[in-house]
Amino acid sequence: MSERTPAGVDMEKIVSLSRRRGFIFPSSEIYGGLSSCWDYGPLGVELKRNVKEAWWNAVVRERDDVVGIDASILMHPRVWEASGHLEGFSDPLRECRNCHQRWRADELKEDQCPDCGGGLTAARQFNLMFKTFMGPVEDEASTVYLRPETAQGMFVNFQNVLSTTRKRLPFGIAQIGKAFRNEITTGNFIFRSREFEIMEVEFFVKPGTDEKWFDYWLEERLNWHVKLGIKRENLRFREHDKEELSHYSRRTVDINYLFPMGWAELEGIANRGDFDLTQHEKFSGKEMTYFDDEAKEHITPCVVEPALGVDRTVLAFLCDAYDEEQDKDELRVVLRFHPDLAPFKVAVLPLSRREPLVKAATDIYADLRQHWMVAYDDAQSIGRRYRRQDEIGTPFCITIDFQSLEDNQVTIRERDSMNQIRVPIAELQKTLAAKLTGEDLFVLPEGGQVWKVEKE
Ligand code: ATP
Repeated sequence: MSERTPAGVDMEKIVSLSRRRGFIFPSSEIYGGLSSCWDYGPLGVELKRNVKEAWWNAVVRERDDVVGIDASILMHPRVWEASGHLEGFSDPLRECRNCHQRWRADELKEDQCPDCGGGLTAARQFNLMFKTFMGPVEDEASTVYLRPETAQGMFVNFQNVLSTTRKRLPFGIAQIGKAFRNEITTGNFIFRSREFEIMEVEFFVKPGTDEKWFDYWLEERLNWHVKLGIKRENLRFREHDKEELSHYSRRTVDINYLFPMGWAELEGIANRGDFDLTQHEKFSGKEMTYFDDEAKEHITPCVVEPALGVDRTVLAFLCDAYDEEQDKDELRVVLRFHPDLAPFKVAVLPLSRREPLVKAATDIYADLRQHWMVAYDDAQSIGRRYRRQDEIGTPFCITIDFQSLEDNQVTIRERDSMNQIRVPIAELQKTLAAKLTGEDLFVLPEGGQVWKVEKE
């Protein structure tokens, strides 16, 4: 039995919809799957790209104080010595003496195996970094690690970015990329996997202003989730206790989301102080300071880091968008995605497969595809086609009927309200653009707005 959140979202339904409609498949499925690895299908890859694009726009393109980079996954092994990951990036592991399952000691509620009730070994620290070898010789000297976070790529490039962009404090470096963690326990679909993508900003500030910037990023990041459609009541902050803080952190607050299995971390905001730059200066022998023109001295900036997993964010958006409602005799499943995230923005649906209707529909399809991801569906009844689009979150369907050939008008049907309006074909693109950017909002039958794009 899968659990339900108070909002009624069921993880099994999310997993099954994702599999059935081509959002997410188990990795290497024909071989029985690879534990905790997932493949994004044709719709999933669009959703994931849209999530990354929305984040990149918000933290890089729409700001003048953050720039992006794309660093390599394999880094010099000394990086992980300096960052403390070699020594400290571990979880306490306990093994069942009976069934040999392994558990994270800090997640165990009782002193016995949750599966078979067997006795457990004492906890030992298990390093979560994946190891591999560079070059043809597999020895200690050629050991490299798959990065467990992207942050270090930004710290080691601090001076490169500073000197090539001439940025002044406060400024940030952002990155999206793959990260790998040999997690002891995985599960809850794409919530915790061993290969995942992460989106991080390292925001460098003058020491003493770090607490103020920390508060700023907390609010900024919470607003981003809400703006893209996550219900505010499904988000909350959770402050880390002193004992729980990572080795580099002065303060950490998680943004938790009410996932189907309960409240869990969606994003972490950490005040890393000057830990990383200081460590890299020590280990590399290169200066990692910044010249403060006002104070006329070299300082080591502090860092505020908002970090979130792409996959976990995709899962939160899927869960929050999922809705079921009774429509006459049928259950209507709708993904109420914000239009910026929806894999398809529009679907073109000719009422018949006969000419000259097909020609009119394909002309509209070709025209709209210059602007958006557009679906074309001419199979089965129009009602079933609407349902198929609702289930994958397409905000608008365009229906072309025989009347269209006479009056040059088509029907736009809105996903959330199911309202329909007729518009001249000549006005179609402009009308959709206004609706997709929120100038013209979706309105629910009872008058409530489903989503609203904040406009500057
Ligand atoms: P947890 O306590 O859940 O293991 P963490 O505190 O170690 O996570 P961070 O190091 O703060 O996580 O990583 C930043 C973000 O990366 C998390 O908020 C989460 O969204 C994502 N993330 C971390 N580990 C995983 C994973 N194994 N699978 C998917 N996403 C992850």
